[in-house]
Amino acid sequence: MGERKAFHAYAGIRPAVPPSPGVLDRFAAIVGDRHAIRDPADKAPYEREWRDHYVGKAALVLKPASTAEVVAIVKLAGETGTALVPQGGNTGLTGAQTPHETGHEIVVSMTRMDRIRDIDPVSNTLVAEAGCVLQRVQEAADEVDRLFPMFIGSQGSCTIGGNLSTNAGGINVLAYGNMRDLVLGLEVVLPDGRVWNGLRRLKKDNTGYDLRHLFMGAEGTLGIVTAAVLKLYPRPLEQVTVFAALPSPDAALALMAALQTRAAGTLTSFELLPRIALDISLAFDSTARDPVATVAPWYALFEVAAMHEGAARTSVEAVLADAFDDGTVIDATIADSQAQRNTFWRMRETVSDAQKPLGGSIKHDVSVPVALVPRFLDEAIPVCRAMIPDCRPVAFGHMGDGNIHFNISQPAQGLSRDDFMARYGEINDAVHAIVMRLGGSISAEHGIGRLKRHLLPEVKDPVELDLMRKLKALLDPDGLFNPGKVL
Ligand SMILES: Cc1cc2nc3c(=O)[nH]c(=O)nc-3n(C[C@H](O)[C@H](O)[C@H](O)COP(=O)(O)OP(=O)(O)OC[C@H]3O[C@@H](n4cnc5c(N)ncnc54)[C@H](O)[C@@H]3O)c2cc1C
Repeated sequence: MGERKAFHAYAGIRPAVPPSPGVLDRFAAIVGDRHAIRDPADKAPYEREWRDHYVGKAALVLKPASTAEVVAIVKLAGETGTALVPQGGNTGLTGAQTPHETGHEIVVSMTRMDRIRDIDPVSNTLVAEAGCVLQRVQEAADEVDRLFPMFIGSQGSCTIGGNLSTNAGGINVLAYGNMRDLVLGLEVVLPDGRVWNGLRRLKKDNTGYDLRHLFMGAEGTLGIVTAAVLKLYPRPLEQVTVFAALPSPDAALALMAALQTRAAGTLTSFELLPRIALDISLAFDSTARDPVATVAPWYALFEVAAMHEGAARTSVEAVLADAFDDGTVIDATIADSQAQRNTFWRMRETVSDAQKPLGGSIKHDVSVPVALVPRFLDEAIPVCRAMIPDCRPVAFGHMGDGNIHFNISQPAQGLSRDDFMARYGEINDAVHAIVMRLGGSISAEHGIGRLKRHLLPEVKDPVELDLMRKLKALLDPDGLFNPGKVL
């Protein structure tokens, strides 16, 4: 881990030009002194991410209030050779949104650009500024009886700009896609200071290259997103939420297929949890209760949504009845109220935090083709156990998207946290090798940032990587946009 940390910290980063006090004054004048943060204590929350895995140092934190102010910042950065780090809610998990340790970079926090510029329930569109918190967008859609279907654990803090720039996923990707699929248009300030006004609200627009997708998942390396046209959907009238006890991941796959084929309505989420995930969540949260009476090796938490009251529940019950008969499902509870639905989801959302008391955790955010999830688990769990006997795999996540958070907790005894974490790279390599062999991805949801930057050349097709580098050089020839992240 130590070596990897050192790599993350400095490898390949051009020595950025340290902005002089005079240059910093010019930057501060753009947003006004009140929104240019210089005091070390006030800067600190922008310099570190929430787990303290990456703690950097910023020359300045700027909080622009308009696209025009972002343009002025970018132009001055170009003139003075100052590197910029775009930041939204600072909930990213790969160290992409925090500055390096040099103290030369300026963090551009987008949180003051938080207006909803327009909402149109007939066209089913919402125009939000990049600093809008995701939950605010969900609420605004709700107010006009529409759904913005991106739901993630950090939704109370993360922003639309961050969601776009990481191409966030979540619990509804199965039905609605990830962030990339929820966007019609973008407004972006390019590294040369021009504004690309791509705020089109069109579902159909075949006028050449679709540049939106260049900036989604770019992690702030190609421009600063200032606003987006988001897609809204009708709100389902019925939502059936089920916690089911299962014998195996294969059974989960069979149940998911049956629901997709036979349930009236849309299967919007299908999460997989091992028993250990429930055990640690129950131990962590004294108010939590086992959702299903029967103890089983695996569980599925799924939801079917429908536009007709009653239709989904009847068909889900029919699918479950058959699944009981053929042994696919051992036991199941259907949520009877919104409160019970919330407790089901809390159980799922607590897993990451509940893992902390177990000590060190070696994490993987991986995906494989959906049908290969059981095979991935069958191969990866024994490999980890062979490398570190008695390690505790907590493999859970969005099975419907083939995305497993494959976390390995340290053994309960016999190995110190430091000794366990020293094996981080070795375990990562073994798990990623299986993922790649199965045609998967080493970063399903959270992006590359600094955390996985060194892995990109190993996993990306060389032609694709070459094109990525050429695009970066074309748009940001001076390498001032989030340097040392992704590429
Ligand atoms: C408890 C918890 C649960 C989570 N659950 C999920 C989940 O289910 N699915 C998921 O995908 N992720 C999840 N995440 C990760 C994280 O919340 C997402 O990556 C989110 O999209 C980041 O948004 P943010 O506003 O916090 O961005 P930040 O963390 O501030 O930034 C992330 C990246 O986007 C860039 N960026 C931010 N704003 C802009 C902008 N306006 N223009 C250009 N670049 C910009 C940054 O430079 C950085 O590269 C979770 C995180 C936490 C802490």
